[in-house]
Amino acid sequence: MKKRQIKNKIKPFIPSDCREVQKLNGDFIKGILPYETSLAFVRHIRHCSECMEELKAYFMFYSAVRYLNEPDESDMPQNIESMLKEVENEAVYRKKRMRNIVVSLVAFASGLGFLVGLILNGQF
Ligand SMILES: [Zn+2]
Repeated sequence: MKKRQIKNKIKPFIPSDCREVQKLNGDFIKGILPYETSLAFVRHIRHCSECMEELKAYFMFYSAVRYLNEPDESDMPQNIESMLKEVENEAVYRKKRMRNIVVSLVAFASGLGFLVGLILNGQF
């Protein structure tokens, strides 16, 4: 029987252990992971020194190879810390944005309620 590897590229994959986290190192550094996956990845990395070391080593290796192949590429992230921060900032941003949406919906609904009240009272 053939061994098949299932690569789940569409649905966000949430890594559950160190082995799965470390398998994502390459995709994380290339920036091609879905947002939910990167966030789970970063959260794990923050609490797991073993995976952090793995990621740093992978990053150094990847940067070196990339530099040898394309010395002029400047879009390469400078260090792993800035990449982790970027995902964490995105998480904060998304939370804030979600709160703003809720606040505007509430404001809209109460504005609508006010208008309906005026109409029902025959003042409009
Ligand atoms: Zn780990």
